[in-house]
Amino acid sequence: MHSFKFVAVLVACATALSALVITGAIASQEVLAEAPKSPEWLTQSETYGFGSAPWSFIQTAKWRFVTHVPASREYLMALRAIGKRGFPYVTFYQAHIFGRYQGMNLSEHTDWLAIDEKGRWRRTGFWDSEDAKNMYCTCFNTEGYRKALLAYVRKLMEMGAGGVFIDNVGFPQKCYGEKFGAHKHVYPTEMEAFTALLKETRELIRSYDPDGALFANSASPATLPDEWWRWIDCEMSESYICTWVSTTRWGDWHKDWNGMDKKISKWMKAGKQVCCLSYVGHTTNNVKDDCFFCYASARIMNMIWQGGRQVVYDDPELSVLYHIETGQPVTEEKVTSEGLHYRVFKKGVVAVNPTDKEAAVEIKREWPTSLLRDVYSNTALNIQWLTAKTGVVKLSVPPQSGRVYVFEPSTNPYIRAGLAAQPASAGYTLTIETSPTLAATRFKVDGIPVYTHSGSYTTKYEKGANFGRCSISFEKSGVHTIEVIDLEKKALMVADNYWESYKLDEDAEFEANRAKDGYLPRLGKLMDPADPVKFMEGGGYAFEGWDGAGTGKEKTVTVRVDGPTRLVAKYRKLE
Ligand SMILES: [Zn+2]
Repeated sequence: MHSFKFVAVLVACATALSALVITGAIASQEVLAEAPKSPEWLTQSETYGFGSAPWSFIQTAKWRFVTHVPASREYLMALRAIGKRGFPYVTFYQAHIFGRYQGMNLSEHTDWLAIDEKGRWRRTGFWDSEDAKNMYCTCFNTEGYRKALLAYVRKLMEMGAGGVFIDNVGFPQKCYGEKFGAHKHVYPTEMEAFTALLKETRELIRSYDPDGALFANSASPATLPDEWWRWIDCEMSESYICTWVSTTRWGDWHKDWNGMDKKISKWMKAGKQVCCLSYVGHTTNNVKDDCFFCYASARIMNMIWQGGRQVVYDDPELSVLYHIETGQPVTEEKVTSEGLHYRVFKKGVVAVNPTDKEAAVEIKREWPTSLLRDVYSNTALNIQWLTAKTGVVKLSVPPQSGRVYVFEPSTNPYIRAGLAAQPASAGYTLTIETSPTLAATRFKVDGIPVYTHSGSYTTKYEKGANFGRCSISFEKSGVHTIEVIDLEKKALMVADNYWESYKLDEDAEFEANRAKDGYLPRLGKLMDPADPVKFMEGGGYAFEGWDGAGTGKEKTVTVRVDGPTRLVAKYRKLE
């Protein structure tokens, strides 16, 4: 069934491509040498915008261009203003017999219609397949029609287009117009006529925008004639893996989709590109799985991808694919013995598992960062460093799935082997606690004064996790002398808001038990150091000895700190 559907949609997408024998074909190396270079923005594109993508999305996506945009100066110039290019749709293949389309009205120019072998107007190939009644093939081998087409392209370029997207690019059928006296032909064959028209279109585009591009859609990049590849910058692989006429992923992944880049490698090397357009959301699969499978299948060939459906913009788990970049490939695509395909890029790794079994690969190489973010699950994988530069990571991909991983720096400065080792001092920590927990209580450690934490303001006073204690770190193990300064801890002054806490000068005001009547910008001058939101009752707290790493009742104690060490200063509440 797949092969049947494959042909069916191909016809729907473009005119049918048949086996091609071009007489007098130019040797491909010469073709390549003569082909003007494609613009770098196109060569390096990874995903692209299509048709009616929301404007807010177009602004933020990592897209360098949008195809199928309206033929509107305002729209095209707005795209240029945000550094992107728009490519309106055109076709040289067909038109409605009535109505103005691409600047012309065929009912006034029936002499431009293609003629079939029986002398009739040639019906479009979509007459039945897409019910395209009253649409006819046009003869691009007639001078008048060619001029009208180029005039329309010129008009689009004057509006600000970056070029055009030419649909229905297929092997041209012979027109019998001259035989039946309908019109005269410019070129001996339709093939030559179409080739020359592509060349003229591209030259016209480049005359307006030196970095402009010509897009074409034959839906089958691998079989597009070299003559045409020469004059276009980007082909389209429409209905890439997912299409609107199949509830399964169609075609044969290995034969029809993977390896397309190798079939056109000389054009890829010349910087030309392929836009893969998948129509996700029509299969019975989870749409996220289809998105990642299609994206990864396209990107592993370094081709450009678009999911073709609104749902991809609406769901952040899907639209993330339009917001990441893997950069250009740094390895060839590799295949493991299990059949897992993967490729390393400048900014990430792409993997596709086209088999029916879970497959994994351990990749050992010089990685730029210590983490790989699995975009599908939004989890980070750690590189296991073997040396300062080389590490290994294991990627595991479920059956029939695609994945993309982007490099991400670790927040741990000591993660890489060979870099400065984590300082040992982190382990030599002395924590001095008070019991009961008392705020702003003073000690000296080796003669240096330290205070216990006393809480602070957010929107209200908060004691905080370290209330009544303080921690200090030493760079190596050793013996330290701790002296208690506050043998008696009296009432505490506490500001009544965040700003007042800056002005609080305990030393200046402390003696004052000169509390005045009326407003005080403090919670109070006589607050309980064990609970600073309460007024002090009784005579305060008196030091009565050490506990934990030191013991005794002397005001000075010595403690060895060989690792995390806890020393407790015990206080007694006075009546
Ligand atoms: Zn003709």
